[in-house]
Amino acid sequence: MKDDIRAKYFEDFTRFTCASDGFDDAEGIIFGIPYDKTVCFRPGARFGPEAMRKASWGLETYSPVLKKDLVDCKLCDLQDISLFGDTEAIFNDIAAVSGEIVKHGKKLIAFGGEHSITYPIIRGIKDVIGDIAVLQFDAHCDLRDEYLGDKFSHACVMRRCLETTDDVYQFGIRSGEREEWKFAKNISMQLMKKEDVDKIAEIGKPVYVTIDIDVLDPAFAPGVGTPEPCGFSTEELLSSLYNLQKIRDSIIGFDVVELSPVYDSGNITAMAAAKIVREMILMLFG
Ligand code: MN
Ligand code: MN
Repeated sequence: MKDDIRAKYFEDFTRFTCASDGFDDAEGIIFGIPYDKTVCFRPGARFGPEAMRKASWGLETYSPVLKKDLVDCKLCDLQDISLFGDTEAIFNDIAAVSGEIVKHGKKLIAFGGEHSITYPIIRGIKDVIGDIAVLQFDAHCDLRDEYLGDKFSHACVMRRCLETTDDVYQFGIRSGEREEWKFAKNISMQLMKKEDVDKIAEIGKPVYVTIDIDVLDPAFAPGVGTPEPCGFSTEELLSSLYNLQKIRDSIIGFDVVELSPVYDSGNITAMAAAKIVREMILMLFG
């Protein structure tokens, strides 16, 4: 088919909406990580990236809150990373891709997959740009040293991140075993407030944001592997995230993880995840 006909009449709905630029031209690089090997309760997060992309086409590209439009952002969607070999091999590939993205001065946007994928992303970024701060939004501490014999379980991901950087800040956390709460340094059951962002700004490090969608209440996000009651509404989470505008230039990238469309109802969770991605992108660019 002639390319001009393709461009006029056809659309590639397998990528995130508006992410039609090539790697070289883009300021933000999206990639999916369809990995859910260590999910302990209900698997299915491997279908998360696909569901987020599909849901994105149901959203307006314009944010009336931020008064910005995705059509003005230069975005490339690399699609999903190939998962070959054992955990170590997969994590090395995720770290390599993450490093490559930031090495080229681009911001990284990753779609999980289960939460364990954040660790190799952090490692890959740190290898290139040095020490960073990590902000986590989650229902769970994810601070176990190991879980079911696996140090790279999603239940251990922030523990692994804490071995990589001292600056891990946890928000919205409402579940974890006693030892995890004892071990945690910067942990809050509340969402991030303006004052928290002021403190993070003072640290002066590049910032990575990881959003485990189960930080939302199961009523707002039923499509997750480990639902935890007494969470936040989508609006409450977004209101908290908007505080990041103040430090947008230091934000090196973000991920949205743990969406498991298998348990979703009416695409509620996928739509919430896609909207969070849109608002995060619009905060970082334009
Ligand atoms: Mn998590
Ligand atoms: Mn969680």
